[in-house]
Amino acid sequence: MHRYAPYLDSLSAQSAAMTDLVADWVKVRSGSYDTAGLARMAAKLKTSFAALGGTCEELPLPPQAAIDPQGSSCFLPLGQALRFRKRPDAPLQVFLGIHYDVVYGGPAGVSDVAADAAIRLEAGVLHASGAADAKGGLVILLKALEAFEASPFSAGVGWEVLLNPDEELGSPGSLPLLKEAAGRNHLGLLFEPCLPDGNLVGARKGSGNFTAVVRGRAAHAGRDPHLGRNAIHAMAELIVELDRFGRERPGLNVNVGRVEGGGALNRVPDLAIARFNLRAGGAADQAAAEDFLRGLAAGFASREGYSLELHGYFTSPPKPLEGGTLDLLKAVAECGGRLGMDLRWQASGGVSDGNKLAAAGLPNVDTLGARGDNIHSPKEWLALDSLPERARLTALLLMRLGSGELAWPAAGSGRGG
Ligand SMILES: [Zn+2]
Repeated sequence: MHRYAPYLDSLSAQSAAMTDLVADWVKVRSGSYDTAGLARMAAKLKTSFAALGGTCEELPLPPQAAIDPQGSSCFLPLGQALRFRKRPDAPLQVFLGIHYDVVYGGPAGVSDVAADAAIRLEAGVLHASGAADAKGGLVILLKALEAFEASPFSAGVGWEVLLNPDEELGSPGSLPLLKEAAGRNHLGLLFEPCLPDGNLVGARKGSGNFTAVVRGRAAHAGRDPHLGRNAIHAMAELIVELDRFGRERPGLNVNVGRVEGGGALNRVPDLAIARFNLRAGGAADQAAAEDFLRGLAAGFASREGYSLELHGYFTSPPKPLEGGTLDLLKAVAECGGRLGMDLRWQASGGVSDGNKLAAAGLPNVDTLGARGDNIHSPKEWLALDSLPERARLTALLLMRLGSGELAWPAAGSGRGG
């Protein structure tokens, strides 16, 4: 351990610098659809990460396909991804990534005034939306790499950093970049927040966002109700069926999050839109959900005067805890042990880009980021002491890989990439 100590100590000495950096970054509102805010954030990240000495690419993402409130398809502009690579010919290639979009903090989130008012620094805690998820993770990733690059153990390890602006949307635009990275790296490290007690996430459920568009027929509600086909009534039946399906299958969660449609109360509405999220515990649950949706669509095809369109798919397949991913988690926990941290892991219903990387064959640990809580809410907070603590964890992991003390693939593992 002593040979790693100077570089680990340098991180402990940077607590204040890390606090300043994250406090600066949370002030930049970077909601997933706030392309101006995302561009401001990207400029800051580019400056910080380019100093690591790798190549830097700014990669525009294609717009996200979506369904507008009229039920028509539309395209929503996204920010750009940043990719940095160093030593791409080294024998061991490590992928490191995290998103820089946030759920709150842009035109689609809480108001600018509310977002700014929520930022508060007190007693070792930063209260700000996006602080733990994932601007703290961005700081941890940057500082861990700085320490690693300053050490003599970096020569045999190449790395690729991908910072994406659309993860909170399911990474619709950056998915091809994640897949590309999965194909040329041996292991992946993602800097999503760890659990509030400091533990890591092992298995993750799969997730998909879907939009159902029911069209009926408009009519005067008093004069010609028999001519109308009420799209909202039909959608209500569909939602009840979805809810029942979710309750009957323990591995599945159904959440209808938004319903739109209708207008004047004396008119039979001809349009209803429901947006919902499905979570699947395993591949069989995902397949069952896909079958169920196909059945719903087929059932609607025979209803006179109605039509149903279903959009969406499982953007994140379930992430099982097995093979290289389990080996890597054990290696991280072992590094934690050497730093006096007792790291355990548990399953989560939340998804991350780790689901996509695992599905593309890249073993990965995805909760190497900051400790905090209430993520995805205006009450989000970040424990500032977790910044040096977790930067040390990743730096030690990288240095032990680089020194050869930690072999990858782990002994007995089936896959080395
Ligand atoms: Zn996140």
